[in-house]
Amino acid sequence: MQTQTCRRSPQTTNATDAIAMKRDRRDTEKGRTRVDLFEYQARDLFAKHGVPVLAGEVIDTPEAARAVTERLGGKSVVKAQVKVGGRGKAGGVKLADSGDDAVEKAGQILGMDIKGHTVHKVMIAELAPEIAEEYYVSYLLDRTNRTFLCIASVEGGMDIEEVAANRPEAVAKIAVDANAGVTPEKAREIVEAAKFPADVADKIADVLQTLWKTFVAEDALLVEVNPLAKVASGDILALDGKVSLDANADFRQPEHEALEDKDAANPLEAAAKAKGLNYVKLDGEVGIIGNGAGLVMSTLDVVAYAGENHGGVKPANFLDIGGGASAEVMANGLEIILGDPDVKSVFVNVFGGITACDEVANGIVQALELLSSKGEEVTKPLVVRLDGNNAELGRKILSDANHPLVQRVDTMDGAADKAAELAAAK
Ligand code: GDP
Ligand code: MN
Repeated sequence: MQTQTCRRSPQTTNATDAIAMKRDRRDTEKGRTRVDLFEYQARDLFAKHGVPVLAGEVIDTPEAARAVTERLGGKSVVKAQVKVGGRGKAGGVKLADSGDDAVEKAGQILGMDIKGHTVHKVMIAELAPEIAEEYYVSYLLDRTNRTFLCIASVEGGMDIEEVAANRPEAVAKIAVDANAGVTPEKAREIVEAAKFPADVADKIADVLQTLWKTFVAEDALLVEVNPLAKVASGDILALDGKVSLDANADFRQPEHEALEDKDAANPLEAAAKAKGLNYVKLDGEVGIIGNGAGLVMSTLDVVAYAGENHGGVKPANFLDIGGGASAEVMANGLEIILGDPDVKSVFVNVFGGITACDEVANGIVQALELLSSKGEEVTKPLVVRLDGNNAELGRKILSDANHPLVQRVDTMDGAADKAAELAAAK
């Protein structure tokens, strides 16, 4: 058991990392998805709920910067729209003092690569009057403590990560009760905890309440303003915003669909989403289907491990078909996976629980028939491992069906090895 744990741990990290990377865009744990917004979309939501922001328009050609800048009074800020922080330091935020200048700056920023994100759009924003101070404020879901959290600091701006790391005492963290929310009293508590200066205390308290309103009304998992700036006039303005929405609330947020970045989504992921499947594309060659997020995660690890003996083949995807595993769901899953040109073999790993293995086996057989009746004949080898409730019966059903491309292997390690071997042989 000890050696088992040891030899597997590096692969556990690999598969988990692969999934975690995808979470950059969308949190893929079962039943939990998040949608990160661009700054201009966050700005629009702030404006909708009364958080003070400056005017701004998003464009995708340098020339378009001229008219917008002129509309904004002849000066503007040109800001890269990428879903990554640190744009300012990377040269993705530039001030323009004329229409011509804005065209030039937009030309420099469009197409720029910021930490692996290509800039396809820039926001031309109204230039903030002289900035006197930069603060930081965010609300987020604190899963560990089963509450919501406000993080606030009077030392916001581009170096907030450094402040948080080196001088944690300068960053206040205040729990926010979901039912009580941010009342005027709570806002006051946050203002005091973060030591906001007296001259801005009332305005900050207002922003804290409207920002909380945004967080709740939009079903967000995160709203962040950095900088929340005090400008020369004494006004408080949200100059940069980051918002992550909880996609589990999509059913009651019809306007959120339009905020999703369809261009960036992998086409297979988009197709899977349309079929209601919990699928994440990965970089390998072995297609994976399993029931239950935990089982699928460990299947990724076992396949990555087995793949090392077969020229380094790796899992091609994460796909959890959940508890039911009906023929239709199985067919949908197979359709997505077989539509991935990188896939050379498929490993179907099912542990029968409430849904017994004989039902799953029937599901697989019917799925193969369904696909062939749709003219989508399976052309890649399938390795199926069935275990758990009614495994014997399920295995017999597969054996009797005797599909030329389906092989049964009854252990998880053995099946992973076979699937990796088949992928490597292609
Ligand atoms: P980030 O680096 O990706 O967080 O991008 P931000 O939108 O926060 O911009 C970085 C920095 O640019 C901010 O901290 C501000 O100092 C500055 N900045 C942003 N908007 C304006 C503006 O309208 N006027 C001025 N003067 N500076 C701005
Ligand atoms: Mn910022």
